[in-house]
Amino acid sequence: MDPVIGVRVVVQSYLRGNFIAMKDGEASLAEIMEDAFVFDYVADDIPGQIHTLNQETGDYWIAMPLDPADALERCDDCQELYAVPSIYWDGLEHFACRICRRKEETQIYQKASGARSIKL
Ligand SMILES: [Zn+2]
Repeated sequence: MDPVIGVRVVVQSYLRGNFIAMKDGEASLAEIMEDAFVFDYVADDIPGQIHTLNQETGDYWIAMPLDPADALERCDDCQELYAVPSIYWDGLEHFACRICRRKEETQIYQKASGARSIKL
């Protein structure tokens, strides 16, 4: 399967140099790029968000693309490359594509169903 390419960007203030970050689900500012939130240029409608930011802040915000090599993650199960929005991270350093995740969820459901039937 061909990887689905997502354009990953960070959003930076042209005047002040700081970056849009996210902390506890809330937008904030970061001084260094390493702390910036990584957006999907298309899925997150960055042109539209920059337009709104420019109007609301009076600043000029720009999208800075990240290296395409950093735009993909490998599924730990099938080893295929996928764009970050298309891959699931379990919070424990395990990446799974949607297909593998669906298989895992099915297995978990079957185990849970099996366990339930044993109890009956
Ligand atoms: Zn996979």
